[in-house]
Amino acid sequence: MKCNECNDTRIRTVGCNNHAVVYTEECYCVQWEERQKEDLAIKMAEVLCSKISKEKLALTLSTMIVDKHTDEYDVHVLSSITENREASYLLNWAIV
Ligand SMILES: [Zn+2]
Repeated sequence: MKCNECNDTRIRTVGCNNHAVVYTEECYCVQWEERQKEDLAIKMAEVLCSKISKEKLALTLSTMIVDKHTDEYDVHVLSSITENREASYLLNWAIV
């Protein structure tokens, strides 16, 4: 379904009261999609937490990170972060 606000350009034009200043910003449809994805992720996390062991979740995530970052430099950095047991830094690699 086409967005009525931005016509699927994902950017909407905003005018001030006097229309002297016009600028663009991310359309409501983009924000709505982000919110939907966030909600799905939260529900998914609840299901995963209740049904899958911590070890299995960790191994799945680690495999995804390793598969995603294959170049030599990334592998070197990931090895080093793992050696230093920096868990929260490792987690960041899942989303970059
Ligand atoms: Zn839109």
